[in-house]
Amino acid sequence: MFGRPDSIVNQLDHLRLTIARRWSRGLAATLFPPRCCLCGFPGASLDLDLCAFCHADFPWEEWHVPGVVVAMRYAPPADELIRDLKYRGITPNARVLGVLLAQAVQQRGAPLPRLLVPVPLHDARLRERGFNQAAALARYAGRMLGIPYAPRAMKRLRDTPSQTSMSMEERHRNVRGAFAVNGARARRRLLDVGHVAVVDDVMTTGSTLKELQTLLLESGVARVDLWSVARVVLSER
Ligand SMILES: [Zn+2]
Repeated sequence: MFGRPDSIVNQLDHLRLTIARRWSRGLAATLFPPRCCLCGFPGASLDLDLCAFCHADFPWEEWHVPGVVVAMRYAPPADELIRDLKYRGITPNARVLGVLLAQAVQQRGAPLPRLLVPVPLHDARLRERGFNQAAALARYAGRMLGIPYAPRAMKRLRDTPSQTSMSMEERHRNVRGAFAVNGARARRRLLDVGHVAVVDDVMTTGSTLKELQTLLLESGVARVDLWSVARVVLSER
């Protein structure tokens, strides 16, 4: 009736960690109050370095497809925050964007995945950049939603060329077979959780996210959602 004793222990453990995390976040926000990363005004909430005015000015995305969450359009000021994160290593932007992605997920009200899987970078690119922006976003979104992330669950087999100037068909071809599940342990974990979300920073045609979704479904994962902070609206390009 009350479930297995080990699951009660796990739940208590989870509760204890959640309370400790909330408390430490509250303390940090009191000592270092959040400031808007765009204008310097006080932040709108403990979790967000963005003021209510700049928050309202974001290019929020209305586009809605079941199983897919996109928080905003790739337009000012979101595009600059993403570029600064990716190419200039401004990592605090990952927190702002990750929290905004988490808020978009909460607004949809759909069942939450049990694990976040960031789109992997090729090892060579990771060494060059020093961090994976998708993993940083998944980390903060996951922290906000209470979902763990698995930055090494997938690997990129080929360092695919930049897709910026490619057509939709070229993009699909470019990423086909470019990823793999990163070993037997990662596969077991993915199958155990059953419901995951693949996380990326920017989605254009969705070819990268869809390739990972297909691979995970073919590997036996029951449900694979797709989350992206921003979406390039092709008709506006
Ligand atoms: Zn502001």
